Amino acid sequence: MPYQHILVAVDLTDECHPVVRRAQALAQASKARLSLVHIVEPMAMAFGGDVPMDLSMLQQQQFEQARERLATFAGGYAEITADQRHLAYGQPRQEIHRLAEEQGCDLIVVGSHGRHGLALLLGSTANDVLHGAPCDVLAVRLKKPE
Ligand code: AMP
Repeated sequence: MPYQHILVAVDLTDECHPVVRRAQALAQASKARLSLVHIVEPMAMAFGGDVPMDLSMLQQQQFEQARERLATFAGGYAEITADQRHLAYGQPRQEIHRLAEEQGCDLIVVGSHGRHGLALLLGSTANDVLHGAPCDVLAVRLKKPE
């Protein structure tokens, strides 16, 4: 059975373009719909837990900036129309799974740095997304910078 709806998760860095291109090629081959998602992580998470100040204004700005960055990033992919570009707030694994289910996606595509050693212990988004995923997951190997 060919895939019908592919969800590609992007961190909005240039590194992610090969990941989208791979998803694009798969979508063309399977005549599947292609959607894009970026998750804005809560600032408190970056600070590692409780922060003794109100971050709501900053978070609102962070979300608005992410909206603009997503529009710029996705602008190069004509077939990914505005209703196929999703922005969510929260923990990437949880939000990517939620969106995949909500949108009826049968494949999630993420980039993978192929970490090992200490970096592996720190975990990766690809690894995280794989666990408990509601559908297939494809991890596209990202090239190390030259
Ligand atoms: P990382 O393990 O954080 O280096 O990220 C590897 C891959 O996970 C990226 O290439 C994206 O496909 C995905 N990813 C990372 N962060 C996010 C995010 N905030 N929103 C959506 N996808 C993400």
